[in-house]
Amino acid sequence: MAKNAEDIVLFEERIPIYPRSVKGRFRTMKWLILLFAYSVYFTLPWLRWQRESGVEQAVMFDIQDRIFYLFGMIVNPQDIFWLAAILMIAAFLLFFVTGIAGRAFCGYFCFQTLWTDVYILIEHLVQGERPARIRLDKSGWSGERILKKTVTHVLWLAVAFITGLTFTLYWGDAYALFGQFFEGTAPFPAYATTLFLTLTTYVMAGLAREQVCTYMCPYARFQSIMFDNDTLIVAYDEERGEGAAGRAKLGKGRKTVEERHAANIGDCIDCGFCVQVCPTGIDIRNGLQMSCISCALCVDACDAIMDKLGWSRGLIRYASENELEGGKHRLFKIKNIGYGLVLLAAIAGLVWSIASQTQLSMAVTQVRNPLYVILSDGQLQNSYDIKLNNKSEKTVTLQVRIDGLANASLDLGRIRKIELEPLSSMNLFVRVKAPPVKGQSGQIPFRFVVDTVIDGKPVTEMKKALFTMRGDFAP
Ligand code: SF4
Ligand code: SF4
Repeated sequence: MAKNAEDIVLFEERIPIYPRSVKGRFRTMKWLILLFAYSVYFTLPWLRWQRESGVEQAVMFDIQDRIFYLFGMIVNPQDIFWLAAILMIAAFLLFFVTGIAGRAFCGYFCFQTLWTDVYILIEHLVQGERPARIRLDKSGWSGERILKKTVTHVLWLAVAFITGLTFTLYWGDAYALFGQFFEGTAPFPAYATTLFLTLTTYVMAGLAREQVCTYMCPYARFQSIMFDNDTLIVAYDEERGEGAAGRAKLGKGRKTVEERHAANIGDCIDCGFCVQVCPTGIDIRNGLQMSCISCALCVDACDAIMDKLGWSRGLIRYASENELEGGKHRLFKIKNIGYGLVLLAAIAGLVWSIASQTQLSMAVTQVRNPLYVILSDGQLQNSYDIKLNNKSEKTVTLQVRIDGLANASLDLGRIRKIELEPLSSMNLFVRVKAPPVKGQSGQIPFRFVVDTVIDGKPVTEMKKALFTMRGDFAP
């Protein structure tokens, strides 16, 4: 039967979630990861680093000069392919981990999870445990409710602001920018970035929360294609929990495992603790759902109940579908091994590329309009644009020459000495002159060579180029 337009619901109304706190091994692990991530994020911009030239900040993304400083490493625009390699590594790491351990990234490492955890902690500290928060929300707008809600939102905004400001400090000299920011003299993008990050953090971690994971995150949508029957998921052991007669609360004649099993009742006492602790508000006993971020807090909750009853843990646990169905769990399948190999290759490639980074780089472009000129002395002349980059922290003096082109000479114009400041680049317009050779026409390969000395060691950079030869102009 066709539905009336007013019957069609386009979105599900949000059900408020009041996550209950829980103690356990996964919760402890999550706090430790959070502490580590926050320590790194909030302290890095303040960390100093001694360099011979350039900024003295350990990590700084200098957009203006297009140089990224990462401790002892300096990333120039020519090294942009490292970024591509890092993105590739991140993607394959995600595929590899997801194939083996499901949405582990979401539950432990994702920014959304890390910031939402802190926001829930603030809510808990100000408004109390889950029952107190539910009561508070059901009460009218009393003085207590207004005060507690105001304090919660002010603290949320404070965390959001510190998060946004810290992000901004990565893009300039943190100490100077911090002072300028509060004096009102920082550049406009610093205020815009901080405001944007403050608002997005507040909205995502404070107001939207689980909706980000369920509706906004693209990873939630495509992660299932990486899952298979051997992927570890947070799962409820239905066979153990339900028994033939289903789950039942503790009660007369069903207090011990023996009594319950005799009555065909499963081990789930239907306490609902696993549902109450869930940050996305789902009941894992209904099976794997898209909203599950694999945080394992329901595992901690159920383990705590089982411990209290003296029953074995693991009614909710990390398990694969194969394992739950009594089969063998295979950790490393061809697909995962493939992801792992690509990941290792990408990491090895990046490490090799970083380790073999040259201090000097050169790019050569042949001027094509005109491709060649015939000089009054009968020689052919080709012109080139050369870009030289000094990636070192020293001022260098460069010698440019050509190699592999018989009887050719290099004309640098009026330039007598090429000196490059640390971490700087320059463009050169040069001409190569060579006599035409009978029977030789077309593009003749040769090389531009740049020599210098950095830290007492000779450094040479070469680039291939082509010389347009016209043998028909030979005398
Ligand atoms: S069901 Fe369990 S693992 Fe999944 S989000 Fe909820 S608490 Fe975390
Ligand atoms: S915490 Fe364990 S016992 Fe309690 S409802 Fe959840 S699965 Fe059942």
